[in-house]
This record gives sequence, C-alpha cells and structure tokens, in this order.
Amino acid sequence: MANLLVTGGAGFIGSNYVFYHLTNFPADNVVVLDALTYAGCRETLDPLIDNPHFTFVKGDILDEKLVVSLIEKYKIDVIVHFAAESHVDRSILGPDAFIKTNIEGTYCLLKAAYKMWVKDGVCHGHFHHISTDEVFGTLSLTDPPFSEENPYRPNSPYSASKASSDCLVRAFVHTYGLKATITNCSNNYGPRQFPEKLIPLVITNLLTGKEVPVYGDGKQIRDWLFVDDHCRAIDAAILSGQSDKTWNIGGRAELTNLEVVNTVCECIDEEFKEDSSLKDRYPSAYPAKGMSCKKAIVHVTDRPGHDRRYAIDPRKAEAELNFKPSLTFKEGIKLTLLWYLNNDKWWRELKKRTKDFSVR
Ligand code: NAD
Repeated sequence: MANLLVTGGAGFIGSNYVFYHLTNFPADNVVVLDALTYAGCRETLDPLIDNPHFTFVKGDILDEKLVVSLIEKYKIDVIVHFAAESHVDRSILGPDAFIKTNIEGTYCLLKAAYKMWVKDGVCHGHFHHISTDEVFGTLSLTDPPFSEENPYRPNSPYSASKASSDCLVRAFVHTYGLKATITNCSNNYGPRQFPEKLIPLVITNLLTGKEVPVYGDGKQIRDWLFVDDHCRAIDAAILSGQSDKTWNIGGRAELTNLEVVNTVCECIDEEFKEDSSLKDRYPSAYPAKGMSCKKAIVHVTDRPGHDRRYAIDPRKAEAELNFKPSLTFKEGIKLTLLWYLNNDKWWRELKKRTKDFSVR
C-alpha cells in the first residue's frame, strides 16, 4: 500500500490520474495538493468526496513548509508531480508564473522530499516528475522521433521551464540521493481537459457554434496520446522501482493540427447524425443547421516560434514498462466527445475563464 501526494490533481492529467489510480489501486491513499489556479477545478474531483482514501488540500507547491507537513501527516511515500503552468500561449504572454511554478515550485517539492525521505544516504520515498516532449525542441519532417538520448533544446518559456525542472530532478538524484523518475510525454487528450487546449477548444467551440481557429497552415505535427494511457505509463514507471531513469511516452499517433481538427469535426458530425436530441441541445452548432463542422475552421496568425514537429520514440517505455497505447486516435476522440457531451455544465463554467484565449 502506498500513500501518494499528487500535485496539480485538480488539473487535466492530474485529475484523470487520481481517478485512474484509485480505480486500479483502491487500497492506496491519495492526497491532492493543488493551488486551484485558473486551470484547476475542485469540482472535477467531486465524485471522490466520499472516498476515505482521498484527501484534497488547497495549497501551493511553493509552500515548502506545507509540503513537509503533508508528507509527515499523511506518511507520503510517493510524490507524483503534475502541478505546472502548462499553456504555451500564456507562457509567451507572461513567462513569470511559469518560472515560479515550474522551476521554483519543483525545487521546493524536491527540497521537501529530500528533507523528509533521505536518511543516512537511503531514500525512503519515490518522486515521479511529469514532463513533456517539448523539452527536446522541434523536428523537421525527416528527423527521427525524439528518443531519451536527444539533447534538450526548448524553444518556448513553457518548455524551457519544464526542461529546467527536469534538470533539477536529475540533480537531486545525483547530488542528494533522491529516488526519482521522469516521463516526457507527448500531447494528451481526453476527459476533463481545460477548454483552452486544442481538442476541448475545438469540441466546445463547435458545440456552441463558434469558429475553430487553426494556427497558420495547420501543418504543425504533434503526437497524441489518450490521457488514461499516460496515467498507466506513470504508474508503470513508479512501480518499476527504478531511479534516475527517464522514459518517453507517446501514442505513435503523429498528426497535423489540421488532421486533429478534421477528426474532431467528423466525430461531431457523425454524433449529430446518430443522436437527434443533440440538435435541440446545441442549436447553434453547425450540424444542427445542416452544415459540416469543417465549415467552422478558420486559419489565424501563427504563434511566434511555433515548433513544427514533435514526435516520440516510445520503444524504451514499450520494452521496459510494457507500455502500449490502448486506443486509436479516432476511438479516443469519440470517448472524449462523449465525456464533453455528458459534462456540459463543467466545461461551460470553465469556458467563461478562457475568454482571452478562446480564439487563439
Ligand atoms: P493543467 O494546466 O490542466 O493543470 C495544472 C494543475 O496544476 C492545475 O490544477 C493548477 O491549479 C495546478 N497548479 C498550478 N500551479 C500550482 C502551484 N503553484 N501549486 C499547486 N498547484 C498548482 O495541466 P495538465 O495539462 O494537466 O499538465 C499536467 C502536467 O503534465 C504538467 O506538468 C505538464 O507540463 C505535463 N504535460 C502535459 C501534457 C499535455 O498534453 N497536457 C503533455 C505532457 C506533459
């Protein structure tokens, strides 16, 4: 049995991880530490309120004293660190919060873990750090995908702050004997994602009859992974019992942004054909007016320094963690769409917070 501290557990991947973990390891105890920034939503975790194995604490990862007291009080032996500022566009407009949370925040957590766990050179806990493939920079169409051996070449303030946090984790392993692992994952999608990110932005804009913005020519390539598959890889990394290891996690699903948007459009068009009640629930959606969702696509000015291609070579994770994506991209999009259709109130509330970014 383990006692987990999950930072950022009220955000997209963190909340999915908490549901995933408590379903698969119901005897474990999970304490979520989340500052509830604009991206955090306490209500996402409401279904767990009566679960005696779940505790929610509103607080900042920069508060080292709080983190130390939580490790002590709940006998935490695993930290799964998701908390971050995570939106690239926001990092371009205001990098300060990214430096603070992603770099200093990770540093605070590492210090607390070291203080509480490392005794006489032996570490009595495990720190798992969630990172991104964006730390590796960009690829041309002909480059091989990122392996764990690729040098770090971050291009945005977001990816630079994540790269720095990865380096700090590594330094705490090598310098202070902390037991830690890192996963660098490609783009996630699935339920409970804040509607400023590409896929939920597209779904919720289409359901409310808004245009769908696509940066530049839409030919930027990303690899996509359904969030539960990422959660499974994280648990496999922790359960491997190893330290000082990183794994690249990806879905073997390289797609252009335009292909992603077109797939979402097709799934919504199909869903409207199958379920006639959707026309009444979403009267301003394009298919309710007899048009394909693809009519909603508009090309907007590209993001500065926009990386052209990210791609993941997941062979190490496949070999060592028995990792394999469980769904095709279209299957995952259908599941995601159903979740958004069944959780209308949740995303409408959050969409109000995304005004500045809703057509970026
Ligand atoms: P998110 O923005 O949806 O959630 C972040 C959560 O962290 C929010 O609940 C927020 O309230 C919380 N938080 C922010 N600052 C905090 C602080 N100082 N103290 C405590 N809590 C704080 O992010 P996400 O998309 O779920 O990403 C989670 C992690 O996974 C991040 O570290 C991100 O870099 C990484 N990642 C994300 C993706 C992706 O596609 N979303 C891919 C690879 C890696």
